[in-house]
Formats: sequence, structure tokens, C-alpha cells
Amino acid sequence: MRMKAAIIREKDGPFLIEDVELDEPRGDEMLVRVAASGFCHTDELARIQALPVPLPAVLGHEGCGIVEKTGADVREFSPGDKVAFSFGSCGKCDRCLDGRPTLCESFVTINFGGVQPDGTSRLSQNGKAISTMFAQSSFAEYAVVNERGAVKVPDGIPLEITGPLGCGIQTGAGAVLNRLRPRPGDSIAVFGCGSVGLSAVMAAKIANCGKIIAVDRLRSRLEKALELGATHAVESREPGETVGDIKALTGKGADCSVDATGNGVCTRMALNCTRPGSPTVLIGGGGEMTLNAEMDIMGEAKSLIGVVEGDSNPKLFIPELIKHYAEGRFPFDRLIAFYDFKEINTAMNDSLSGKVIKAVLTMGNG
Ligand code: ZN
Repeated sequence: MRMKAAIIREKDGPFLIEDVELDEPRGDEMLVRVAASGFCHTDELARIQALPVPLPAVLGHEGCGIVEKTGADVREFSPGDKVAFSFGSCGKCDRCLDGRPTLCESFVTINFGGVQPDGTSRLSQNGKAISTMFAQSSFAEYAVVNERGAVKVPDGIPLEITGPLGCGIQTGAGAVLNRLRPRPGDSIAVFGCGSVGLSAVMAAKIANCGKIIAVDRLRSRLEKALELGATHAVESREPGETVGDIKALTGKGADCSVDATGNGVCTRMALNCTRPGSPTVLIGGGGEMTLNAEMDIMGEAKSLIGVVEGDSNPKLFIPELIKHYAEGRFPFDRLIAFYDFKEINTAMNDSLSGKVIKAVLTMGNG
């Protein structure tokens, strides 16, 4: 079928909305009419080719929509179902079978290799293949999605808000609820109050953390963190001062911390603000950084733990987050600013400048 999609043709290039061809869903895939898609920092990393998704590509990996057609092997879904999409995984390797699809042996190929799990793309233009992302490519009017990457959205939940659950939101919430698993009363420091860090803050409240300390440079983001459950806000200053502020608030240092920035200076602060023996999870991608292995980690028996997608099994964790939302404990909709699909380049610019926390594009299909 012919449809509109936002294409990235070259490194650093803009999104261009053009007509493309979308093939029929095969086997365990389904055709979904996209209602909305979040704009995530990982889309930006692909656009600037820090993540080398082969170009040209249709990006977008926080989609949601309504199932229109199912392949012959789809068992879990029927036309008319409302679904949110998450990352892809093979479902066959030992990690997938162990319920840890974020560690799937084919994770990189399926999500960033530009093709569906069977090694081919469903997107083309004038006979030439176009890359997909996260086996969904939701910056488009329709998407072909593997049923393994989809989760049903129950009635009563606004469909358009659910796309970001599949990546940014579960990354922050899962880092706390799946990986750190703080005990009630534990203190936690969260560095970076974008959508990922703020999801970690909301999750810390769900986990009944005691002191929940949000750290950011922007006052507006700290105020948002306080609205969403942070008990204290620390404006990021010189590293020694910021760490000192957190130690003053916690007494002995935080029981655990989250770095959602990926900035090496912040990662080091996240390590240094904790008590000896404590874990820090790293969920922001920033590249090279400088740490002193003895002073920052070994000397105080600390650990720095990389976590992908919140260590989530989306089929289980997204319904859990939706339940928390429905019962008023996880108001992630307050992070969202909606944009019309045609305004995708504005949504990107507003996301990168920090003007909005989580941009979500609506396709007018809801
Ligand atoms: Zn796998």
C-alpha cells in the first residue's frame, strides 16, 4: 500500500514527508494504522548516525495504533485491537527464552539493522528498499509490526499517549523497578530530568523510596520532578557542590542513583553521591567518559550498571505501567506535548532544545 512516511535521507538531514510503499504483513507480523509516535533521543542518534541505521530510513520507535490486518501466524491480536509497540527481539535465543529480550542476541540487527527479524524491509520507494527502525518505523501513517514487539492497550486508556511506554518511559521506570529494586525508605538520586529521568522519579515513588532527589540544570525540569514525586530538587552546579548537596540531604549518601544523562561528569556525580556499596544505573548514552576506577568505584565497593530499555520484558512491564497510570500512580501523560505529524521537524527541534519533555506526533488516525 501507498502511505506517507517521514524519511531521513542523509546524516543530519531533516525529516521529509513523502509517499512510500508498505508491503503486506507476513507470518507473525501485523499491519497497524499508526495513531501516534513519540520522538525519542534514539531517533536523533539515528538521524545523526551515532547509531548507524542504514539510510534512507523511516525512523520512529515509540508507536501505537490500531491493528488493521494480521499475518497468518499471529495469535495474540485481532483487527481492531489497540496496541503500543516496543523494541523487537528474536524470541528464540536463550536470553529471549529467559524473559530478558533486552539482551536478545539479535537486538542490534532487529532494532538498528534496518530490517524486520526475517532480514528484509517492508518499506520501499520506487522499488528501492528503505530501512526500518525497531522493526516498526512509526513515523508513518501505517507500520508493519512483529507481534512480539506489540502490547495490547486496554479500553479506557487514551491510545495516543501509550507509544513512549515502549522505549523512553520503560527505560526510566524499569531502571528503578526492574533493576535497582530499592527497598521502601531507600534514598535515590536521579540525574537528568527529561522523560527518562522523570519516569525514574515516578517509579521511585511507586517503590516507596524515602528521599527522591532530582538533579538537573533547568529549574523548570526540577519543578516538574517535584510535581511528579521528587521530594528534593538539586540544581546541578560544580560536581563537588552537587555531590555535597546530596550528601547533606541524605546524611550518609544516597542508597542508589540513576544517571539518565550519559554525560561523564554526571555519571561520576551519580557514583560519588551514593553510600559505599551502592549501585548506580547508567541509562543515558553519552559515549566516552573519564572515571577513576579506584576512587569512584572500587575503593567504596560501588557498581556502575548499564541498563538497556529498563531491563524490561515489554509484554509484562508495559501492562504493569499502564495499570500504575490507570490507578493514578504513574502520570506519565504529564510529560507529553502533542504535535501534528507534519510538524515532525518542529517536534524534533523542541525536544532537542528542551522546550518540551516528550514530543508525541499524532497521525490523525486515532
Ligand atoms: Zn532473542
